[in-house]
Amino acid sequence: MDSEFDIIVVGGGPAGLQAALTTSCLKLKVCVIELENAGGALVNVYPWKHIDEFLGYRNMTGSEAAKKIVEHVKSEGVTIKEHEEVKDIIKTGSAITVNSSNGTYHCKAVVLTVGLGAPRKLGVLGEGLEGVIYSIFEPLVFNGKKVLVVGGGDTAVEQACALSKIGAKVEIATRRDQFKASKKNIHELEQSDFPCHFNTEVKEIVGEDKVEKAIFLNNKTNEESTEEFDNILLLLGTTSNKDFLNRLDIKTDKKGSIIVDENMRTSREAVFAAGDVVGRWLRIPYAIGEGGMAGLNAFKYVKDPHWA
Ligand SMILES: Cc1cc2nc3c(=O)[nH]c(=O)nc-3n(C[C@H](O)[C@H](O)[C@H](O)COP(=O)(O)OP(=O)(O)OC[C@H]3O[C@@H](n4cnc5c(N)ncnc54)[C@H](O)[C@@H]3O)c2cc1C
Repeated sequence: MDSEFDIIVVGGGPAGLQAALTTSCLKLKVCVIELENAGGALVNVYPWKHIDEFLGYRNMTGSEAAKKIVEHVKSEGVTIKEHEEVKDIIKTGSAITVNSSNGTYHCKAVVLTVGLGAPRKLGVLGEGLEGVIYSIFEPLVFNGKKVLVVGGGDTAVEQACALSKIGAKVEIATRRDQFKASKKNIHELEQSDFPCHFNTEVKEIVGEDKVEKAIFLNNKTNEESTEEFDNILLLLGTTSNKDFLNRLDIKTDKKGSIIVDENMRTSREAVFAAGDVVGRWLRIPYAIGEGGMAGLNAFKYVKDPHWA
């Protein structure tokens, strides 16, 4: 296994792939290590959703866009390792050792682009039942199914509307008295005619092995009600990568986002960061911009290793 690189990029989403492309075009030897599939959230979280706000990618799904950007990066000679988790980064003098679930690598600089953390759990009884999901990979299997979407943000609203369009019998529940979503998504929700449950918490999910019912609690009236569903899609945001970043001794802010300077440098020498894990604006174009900037500064560091 080739284990010597100039740069190791941790995370293969848009930020990481752009950092890899930038450094590879500058003739460095680069490896991207990705926990799941290269393409990041586009392919691992919303492969079927149409991408918005990403210049030139109109009407393309997450997986189509991911395929395109991954192919581009590979064509520039970047090594991409998938289904491999980075566990630790150790710096001894100028040498960096990156330990992953599959092996050990050596490099001169690291770019951390691990995105947001794992999906946030609801933490109720029955959450482990078959049919409780946190993302949708193949929407058409929900055609004709009764699906409860739980969450009040953009992702929940967007996915509820999309599922409704492909013929699922959707309902959406939020514990708030309104949705916290963009005007565009609220407008789309208003055009749809599926039930919205406000001030509603899912108290328990009931079923033998598979989801059968959700028990709702109205947090204003304290009334409980029960309704049957085939699937429950939990879209409650993500946890931060705080534990992983603490282990790496990388400074984060109160929200768990990595603190970087204007050159995308973290609190650890030779470690740069970009994209959602920096938490500025959670969109693809921003991740790409920051990834390019982190890559360029990582290149400069490799050529002239000063960290004043
Ligand atoms: C449902 C949804 C819809 C969205 N729609 C849009 C849209 O239409 N337009 C838009 O511009 N933005 C959209 N976004 C936001 C956009 O997807 C993100 O801003 C973008 O993917 C951030 O890129 P990133 O590279 O920082 O992180 P990610 O794409 O999240 O990639 C990070 C990668 O790091 C990997 N990773 C994590 N830990 C490790 C580890 N220890 N070792 C190795 N790999 C690791 C993860 O598996 C992940 O693949 C959407 C987000 C969601 C959740």
